[in-house]
Amino acid sequence: MSRGRVVVVGSGIGGLTCALRLAHAGRDVVLVEAAGTPGGKVRQIHIGDHALDAGPTVFTMRWVFEELLADCGHDLSGLLPMQPARVLGRHAWANGPNKHNDPATLDLFADVQATADAIGTFAGAAEAHNYLNFTRRSRQVYQALEKPYVRGARPTPWSLVRRAGWRGLPGLARISPFTTLWQSLGQQFQTHHMRQLFGRYATYCGSSPYLAPATLMLIAHVEQDGLWLVDGGMHRVAQLLADLFTAAGGRIRYRTKALNIQQRSGRVVGVQVKTPDGETEHIPASSVVFNGDVGALTAGLLGPGLMPPQAGRVPRSLSALTWCQVGVAQGFPLIRHNVFFSNDYKAEFEQLSHGHHAPDRPTVYVCALDRGDEPATAPPAPERFLCLVNAPPNGDTTGWQPHSYAPSQSEAWALMSRCGLSLAAPPEAQVVTTPRDFARLFPGTGGALYGRPSHGWLSSFQRSGARTAIDGLYLAGGSVHPGPGMPMAALSGRQAALSVLEDGR
Ligand SMILES: Cc1cc2nc3c(=O)[nH]c(=O)nc-3n(C[C@H](O)[C@H](O)[C@H](O)COP(=O)(O)OP(=O)(O)OC[C@H]3O[C@@H](n4cnc5c(N)ncnc54)[C@H](O)[C@@H]3O)c2cc1C
Repeated sequence: MSRGRVVVVGSGIGGLTCALRLAHAGRDVVLVEAAGTPGGKVRQIHIGDHALDAGPTVFTMRWVFEELLADCGHDLSGLLPMQPARVLGRHAWANGPNKHNDPATLDLFADVQATADAIGTFAGAAEAHNYLNFTRRSRQVYQALEKPYVRGARPTPWSLVRRAGWRGLPGLARISPFTTLWQSLGQQFQTHHMRQLFGRYATYCGSSPYLAPATLMLIAHVEQDGLWLVDGGMHRVAQLLADLFTAAGGRIRYRTKALNIQQRSGRVVGVQVKTPDGETEHIPASSVVFNGDVGALTAGLLGPGLMPPQAGRVPRSLSALTWCQVGVAQGFPLIRHNVFFSNDYKAEFEQLSHGHHAPDRPTVYVCALDRGDEPATAPPAPERFLCLVNAPPNGDTTGWQPHSYAPSQSEAWALMSRCGLSLAAPPEAQVVTTPRDFARLFPGTGGALYGRPSHGWLSSFQRSGARTAIDGLYLAGGSVHPGPGMPMAALSGRQAALSVLEDGR
C-alpha cells in the first residue's frame, strides 16, 4: 500500500493533534472542517467586541500537550503561556453543613494540606482526614491506569491486566470498577457536601456519579496534579495546534463538510465534501481519520457500512445548557471556576436520565473568564461569563425552545442568589446554547458532549479504538479511547496518527 494522502475530518483537539503529528512525519495531510474556525467544542463565540470561550475552561494534564509538541520539535511553554491555579475552584451551597444550614463556600487548593485545612473548617476534622485518604486513593487509581489505559491503545480487560504486569496488579486491584463513584464516596466521606463535591467529577465525562464506576475518582487527582489558566483563553490551544499544523505543511479547509467517506472493496479511497460555495468535490486519500463523533458513523451519516449500526438505544453522555454573557457580578467573590450546588443531587441526575428538559433545580458552573484564582483580581465590569448546567442529550428529538428551559434558568439564578451572587447581563449580551444547538454542531450526538457515558465497569472498554474494520479508516476524538476531555482527545489523536504510520498507510 502506497503512503498517500491522509484526510482528517474535523478540527477538534483529536483531529488537530493527529493532523499535526502526521504532517510532522512528512505526510500529505488535508484537514476538512465544517465550521469556520478550528477547535470543535473548544469554540469561541462573539458578543459585541468580546470573544468568549464557549466550551472547555479547565486545562489539565499539561504533560499531554508538552509531549505532543515535543514530538513535533516544539516547546509548549514558549508557545502557550499559562499559569498554574493556586485555587482550583470555589464551591457554594445555599445550605451548608454548619449548624444553621447557612450558605457556605469551600475552596479546593492546588496544595493538598491547604484543602484539608479548608475542609476541616467547612465540615470538621474527620472530613479533613477523610479527604487526605481520598487524595491518596485517587492518586493510586490514576497511577495504576496512566500507563496501561490512558497512554495505551484501547485495551480489553485482559490486555489491561497484561499491560499493567505483575508489579501493576496491586494497583489495578484498587481501582474499584465494580462500585459506583457515589457508593465509594459514601464509604469515604460522612457529609453529603463532600460526596457531592467529588461526585461532580463524573460529569467531566458526561456521566452520573450514581452510575459511573468509582474509578473516576482519578479525575480528582488529575485536577490536583495541575490546573492551568491559559493566557488568552482556551481557544488559543486549538489555534496554536492549527497554526503548527499549517506551518508543518498541512492544509486546512474550513467551511468544508465531509458528506461521504468513500470506500472500494473495504478500503478507503477518499472523501466527498461540500465546499464553501456549495459544490461537491472528491478528495482522494489512502487514509481518512474521522474526528467527529463515532455516533455519526454508526448512524450512517458519512455513508453506509463504515461502522456497524448500533442495535437499540445507544447510551449517550450528558449534554449542557450554556449561557455566555457579558455582564455584571455582585455580592459573591467569584474566582475563575465556581460551582453552585443544588441541594438534591439524586433528583437532579434522575431528571437528567429520564427527563426531557434541564433539571428543575440544577447545579450551576460559572466560569468568570476574566478572573484569576483570587477574588482580588476581579476586573472592571462588564465581565465575560460562561454559565453551564447539565442537560439531557436529546437535541435531536426535543425543541429546546426558551419556554422549555426557563424554569431551570430561573432556578439556577435563584440558587446563585441564595448563595449571595447577583449575575446580570442585558439580553443582547447573552448567547444561550442548548442541546439542540450542540446536536447541530456535532452531528450524530443528539447533543451528547462526551461520547458514550462512563456507566458501569465495562464502559471503559466499549469505546472504539483508533483502528476500524475498514482498511484506511481511523478514529480520533472524545468519543474514542481513552475518552473525552481535551487531553484525552489529544491522546486519541496521537494514537490515530501512530496507527496510520505503523500501518504504512
Ligand atoms: C461546554 C463544554 C465544556 C467542556 N469543558 C471541558 C473542560 O473544562 N476541560 C476539558 O478538558 N474538556 C472539556 N470539555 C470536553 C472537550 O471539549 C472535548 O472532549 C474535546 O474538546 C473533544 O475534542 P474532539 O477531538 O472529540 O473534537 P470535537 O470538539 O468534537 O470536534 C469535532 C470537529 O469535527 C467537525 N466535524 C464533525 N463532522 C464533520 C464533517 N462531516 N465534516 C467536517 N467536519 C466535521 C466538527 O465541526 C468539529 O469541529 C467540554 C466540552 C463542552 C462542550
